[in-house]
Amino acid sequence: MSGIYIHFPFCKRRCAYCDFYSTTQLDHTPFIGAVKQELIERTDYLDGSTIETIYFGGGTPSQFSIDELKQIIDGLNHYPGVKLTGKSQVKEFTMECNPDDLTEEYVQTLTRLPINRLSIGIQSFQDDLLRSITRRHDARQAIDAVNRCKRLGFHNISIDLIYGLPGSTEATWRADIKQAIALNPTHISAYHLIYEEGTPLQKRLAHGEITEAKEEDSIRYFQILREELLQAGFQAYEISNFAKPGYESRHNSSYWQGTPYLGIGPSAHSYDGQDRQWNAPNLKTYCVHQSRIEGITKEIITPEMHYNEILLTRLRTKWGIDLVKLEQQLDSKYLTYIKKQAQKYITSGDLLWDEVNQNLRISPKGLFISDGIISDLMSLEEEA
Ligand code: SF4
Repeated sequence: MSGIYIHFPFCKRRCAYCDFYSTTQLDHTPFIGAVKQELIERTDYLDGSTIETIYFGGGTPSQFSIDELKQIIDGLNHYPGVKLTGKSQVKEFTMECNPDDLTEEYVQTLTRLPINRLSIGIQSFQDDLLRSITRRHDARQAIDAVNRCKRLGFHNISIDLIYGLPGSTEATWRADIKQAIALNPTHISAYHLIYEEGTPLQKRLAHGEITEAKEEDSIRYFQILREELLQAGFQAYEISNFAKPGYESRHNSSYWQGTPYLGIGPSAHSYDGQDRQWNAPNLKTYCVHQSRIEGITKEIITPEMHYNEILLTRLRTKWGIDLVKLEQQLDSKYLTYIKKQAQKYITSGDLLWDEVNQNLRISPKGLFISDGIISDLMSLEEEA
């Protein structure tokens, strides 16, 4: 079982906090051709395994017309292990969308494609906060877009929110969560704002024009998020991801569980179960066969990197780390090391240890200090 991610590196306008690779260029044609070509070039990457999830991310996939999306889906249909017609093995096909792209006509035609899950980048329902991070939509457009998608037949909808935005308060954050719950999505992802180096927002912070959320406020926002969403019937299956029962994102869960995936498009990462590789974050490079191949970076994952990745991706999920599996995958010194490092957090109640199933995960209490716990459990080769 594997997944395919396609990175659509186009945005109508750049948001002030974002450091994902994308361009505001308008011509999609060379990109579509290159995606179809890359799918052909990499037919062997996943060894013919069944594709269960497909994810259109970006950038802004909803900047693409239905005809353009169809061309890419046609390319996917020829990929081994993908069958998007009839009894398809693809269980989840997600497309990221911006609210202002989701017009009545666009959503109506989108329902004719095999996409069965929408991830809508809302970030906040406060117009002044949305303006400050230069999002294209306002709160009304976001609310209307979600309702429209539901009315026209999409029942599996995820909403993205960001907390800790400059100018936000406990009251605005509570209002955002309340509004998100009222829209009754199946899934909510909520991440704390990160001031990524080189972004306009980070420059404003460096010039003293805005201030960063205080640590105690950030902890409080996270606490409110968990309390409100759990009370509303969402389950916390990863530190920043909440789903109604049965609606966890299969695609993202497979990243956290170490399942192989193929990443297509500029800057997209791939993992074949052993090593990783990624394309250059450059549309021009990507669209020319020779420079696309030359632009690939390959990374051999050492046992230490593998161990650290298991910590980073799995400890914060509800599934935690299976230590029996860890011992099968890695030298037993890592098992000894993690057990030694985890002991004080098990005693303090920040980590939960299931002796019968040999499973380690972060407790609800430990979630508030998860970064510290993970860095303490990480391996420095000489210590492991
Ligand atoms: S947040 Fe999304 S829409 Fe905004 S610039 Fe980044 S990728 Fe584009």
